[in-house]
Amino acid sequence: MCGIFGIYNNRDAAHIAYLGLYGLQHRGQESAGIVTSDGKRLNRKVGVGLVAEIFKDKALDSLPGNIAIGHTRYSTAGSDPQRDAQPILVKYCKEVGDIAIAHNGNLLNSDVLREQLKGYGCEFLTTSDTEVIPVLLTKGWTNSLVHDLPWTLRQVKGAYSLLLITKDSIVAVRDPNGIRPLCIGKLGESVVFSSETCTFGLVGAKFLRELDPGEILVVNKKGMNSTYFTDAKKRLKTPSAFCIFEYIYFSRPDSTIFGKNVHEVRKRLGEELVKESNVPADIVVPIPDSANSTAMGYAQTAKLPFEAGLIRNHYIGRTFIQPHQSIRDFRAKIKYNPIEEVIRGKRIVVVDDSIVRGTTSRKLMRMIRDAGAKEIHLRISCPEIKHPCFYGIDTPTEEELIAANNTVEKIKGYLEVDSLHFLSLEGMIKATGIDKKTFCTACFTGKYPLK
Ligand code: AMP
Repeated sequence: MCGIFGIYNNRDAAHIAYLGLYGLQHRGQESAGIVTSDGKRLNRKVGVGLVAEIFKDKALDSLPGNIAIGHTRYSTAGSDPQRDAQPILVKYCKEVGDIAIAHNGNLLNSDVLREQLKGYGCEFLTTSDTEVIPVLLTKGWTNSLVHDLPWTLRQVKGAYSLLLITKDSIVAVRDPNGIRPLCIGKLGESVVFSSETCTFGLVGAKFLRELDPGEILVVNKKGMNSTYFTDAKKRLKTPSAFCIFEYIYFSRPDSTIFGKNVHEVRKRLGEELVKESNVPADIVVPIPDSANSTAMGYAQTAKLPFEAGLIRNHYIGRTFIQPHQSIRDFRAKIKYNPIEEVIRGKRIVVVDDSIVRGTTSRKLMRMIRDAGAKEIHLRISCPEIKHPCFYGIDTPTEEELIAANNTVEKIKGYLEVDSLHFLSLEGMIKATGIDKKTFCTACFTGKYPLK
């Protein structure tokens, strides 16, 4: 998963991109970077770590210009965090100059394309799947971005929301299925792009609209020009495949994506959970922070007190010093701590967003039990994850997915809870208020919209 942000026509472009990336930090903490244009050349700074660590001191001073794009990375492809940090910069053509790209998603045919391009003598600077896009672009016939980009995009398959920057423009692209979000905003005379709308408040921008699936939007001195890189007939036949997991886990609750506010959708997920699996209990406790809104919806619907039974430490950097003696479940303990006074002697509905491997959930359930819970009823706001994601979410292989290999009853036993319920597919979709056909639900159903 990744976050992308862009700003066109602002003299504080680098600073605003920095703020934008700060607001998208939750989408990726492995590396981050910004590329700006000063009208003549592109300036790039990327690094490994959190946005605030990379752009400390006077780092932004090395990024002059009125146009900027940025990226926060959570890798799903590639192996070298420093080398693969985005935006990736490549030499394009004399007329356009250099070009840089920031990508959220995952390409399905990048290995094949990479081998073909290598056969033509192309060199790659990174191990990231994204790089095939700018490298393919340099193989275009016309050396005109407007002509070569649609051709390039028709060669790649997969999930991609993209921002490209040249010395005088930003180009925003969304794949024909619209798997990952990409939003457009206005900040005075400037145009802003962001994976999620939660950044717009921070930089003072107003949300305009989401980029359409299959749309290419070029922003330059001539204004904003929108085209589609698949023909109209094909577009009608290509169903959208918005990733429903954006609502479940990834996006921030203060974002509006696919036309709906994430917090509101999550509250309705909680409501649906009550409808499907109400149980006598004393309190409702979320696994913070991703399940907060859902647990609130559950508590309000079930008319139960919403309580903070677990507190999350937000200040864990990438490298914390491990203790010398082994402390049981150290990794879970550094992140979560129970409030015994809340938990002791209670029948608790614990709400979490998802179960992937089950390892964290097991530790947290034990933590709640050790704090004195009388009963634990675990409620999960999505169905069982049985299939890996190939479109940009870092899910393990099928063998490691607990629900791919175990019944709900077995998972309940492994987690040592008194009851366990996964929200049904229908309940989850109902909570979004959006037509079922609009979504990619492959991680639950195995029905992949693209192969
Ligand atoms: P586990 O019990 O080990 O399966 O971990 C489940 C927790 O991981 C849930 O509470 C989610 O909030 C979180 N989670 C779900 N999907 C992801 C993901 N792709 N990357 C990181 N964390 C995730």
